[in-house]
Amino acid sequence: MNPPVAGTPASTPPVSPAQASASSDRTAIVSAPIVSDKKRQEALARYNVNEWGGGYFTMDDGGCATVNPLQRPGAAVRLADIVDEVKRRGFRSPFLLRFPQILKHRVTRLHDAFAAAIREFDYPKHYQGVLPVKVNQQRVVVEAAVEQSGRHRYGLEVGSKGELALALTMTIHPEALLLCNGFKDRDFIELALRGQAAGSRVVLISETIHEVRDIITVARDIGVKPQIGFRVRLHSSGVGKWEESGGSHAKFGLTTAEILEALDYLQAEGRMDSVSLIHFHIGSQICDIRAWKEAIKEATRMFCHIKRRAPSLEFLDMGGGLAVDYDGTSTATDWSLNYTLEEYCRDAVYNVKTVCEQEEVEPPVLVSESGRAVLAYHAVTVVTPLKVIGRDSSRPVHIAKDACHQVKELKSTLDELRKNNCRELINDARSLHAELISSFKLGFVTLEDRAAGEALFHDICSRAAQIWDREDAAEKEIADLVEMTAPRFICNFSIFQSVPDTWAFRQVFPMMPLTRLLDDPVTEATIGDITCDSDGRIDDFVGCAGIKRTLPLPTLNTDEPFHLGLFLVGAYQDTLGDFHNLFGAANEASIIIDDDGSFSIINQYRGTTVAEAMEVFGYPLSLLRARFDERWGGDDSLEAVRYRDCFMRIVSSGTYLKR
Ligand SMILES: *Cc1c(COP(=O)(O)O)cnc(C)c1O
Repeated sequence: MNPPVAGTPASTPPVSPAQASASSDRTAIVSAPIVSDKKRQEALARYNVNEWGGGYFTMDDGGCATVNPLQRPGAAVRLADIVDEVKRRGFRSPFLLRFPQILKHRVTRLHDAFAAAIREFDYPKHYQGVLPVKVNQQRVVVEAAVEQSGRHRYGLEVGSKGELALALTMTIHPEALLLCNGFKDRDFIELALRGQAAGSRVVLISETIHEVRDIITVARDIGVKPQIGFRVRLHSSGVGKWEESGGSHAKFGLTTAEILEALDYLQAEGRMDSVSLIHFHIGSQICDIRAWKEAIKEATRMFCHIKRRAPSLEFLDMGGGLAVDYDGTSTATDWSLNYTLEEYCRDAVYNVKTVCEQEEVEPPVLVSESGRAVLAYHAVTVVTPLKVIGRDSSRPVHIAKDACHQVKELKSTLDELRKNNCRELINDARSLHAELISSFKLGFVTLEDRAAGEALFHDICSRAAQIWDREDAAEKEIADLVEMTAPRFICNFSIFQSVPDTWAFRQVFPMMPLTRLLDDPVTEATIGDITCDSDGRIDDFVGCAGIKRTLPLPTLNTDEPFHLGLFLVGAYQDTLGDFHNLFGAANEASIIIDDDGSFSIINQYRGTTVAEAMEVFGYPLSLLRARFDERWGGDDSLEAVRYRDCFMRIVSSGTYLKR
């Protein structure tokens, strides 16, 4: 929704590892005494990074987050060095860092995994993938994917006229597919057919029986033989947050009766030889492999029945859904998956082969439309914590001599707190706190007493979380106290723009600081953005064993600021992001890393300016200027000139806070 504006391609020489550390204020950390292995293991576990990092992200010995796009030994780069270089070029956070090499590595991994399964089961046909453009339409992303086209016959999948127009301008391998899903009008169909006539390998996948008729009509009008696919409605459905409903509730696809009707229609029209593909898509982020196996078996059976009537049928397109292990647990939960890429491919190849053998039908060329699994890893959003909201327990609580009894009792509760009486005293404190608030509402408690009581209650909970005997406390009791007292780190970004699915689905993305990962102690915190919206916050985090309600962060002292990375955000997030509060696209840079760990910034885009964000909503800069001059233009006092300068400076700069 929000393309980066005004590209400034920046092809400057690569930054070598030595230069990177020289220009980095983090050299000191890196050359610090070798930390104990135990401490390192603890830090790795705290963020679970080796589990969700996919081999691309981890931590170095100095406690810095690293990226290694090609997974080659010795080629890892500290993300903080990249951030420093991007900042040296005048960009402020938040920024989006893209690693096109990761994207390409994912495409190759997917094709290699299918190739291995095809060899293992002696499958007689090949596999070729397509990139579903809706998962990220950004030019740098689509172009990086298209660069893999020649090597793997990698194609594109589109779902709208806009995406089709975009795809037709890309030069893909002549055998790569250009698949058209989604509802279509005649214009859509005509453009696809003309693209096909001009040499692209376009398949129009029908969502309805009407579309089949429209395709035949338009094809006849313009004299092109169409390649038609059917999206079939399976009984099997996906699992998890993004399951497509199956059966009669499905939004997309032809029912069994409609497929028969379509085949009869094509036969009558003498166009049976146009049938080339069967497609299904059971939803995104399929977390349980069983759903996948069931869908494959059902769809292959469907393929075989249709192929008997339409021998030109060549492809089985298995849709998307290959999941990403966002939380690193390898389980069938919403943000993870209980299978590997290799298993996913082997299950597909094996089941298609088995069903085709039983049916004695020639097996299909295999196609899939993995979006999330190909794109999620390639992008990292980097944000800067600005301030901490929450009570600092080291500040003394001022208690008035004549304070109300609830405050006095809360104070003695705090003083009496010991490792073996926490549960009892927390319950006392809870009642006293509730009583204090009720009395305040009735007018019996002063503002000063309320402030003191709230601070004492906070300190009781946070001290109990520290000292409570772990033998006695349940893990949840401690976690609740930590969550209750956790400060919120306010960061310079908008979740609605950068990670909208945290808001829409409470999706979990792994996060960790880019430096100071070995810091001790850490603060268990939550995250807030700078939008004026109480929903602009993150309360779910990846921890060492699944989802946690707080994220451990270094203390926020000004002499050693740190950046926070939000990882695996390359699928869906930057195109679903919106302009809530007029916060626009973040600054952006694409980075290439060489074998020796030197890196170059190959593209950089400045994010949306205030004027550009306003233009989207109908206020072009010319209008703003005219209105400003109309109201204040006649006044040429110094104050009026300064006012105008200030207004124009803000309007032409980025939408985020300067710091
Ligand atoms: C969204 C979509 C995809 C991509 O799904 P992922 O889960 O991201 O792999 C593939 N095919 C169709 C038809 C889709 O609608």
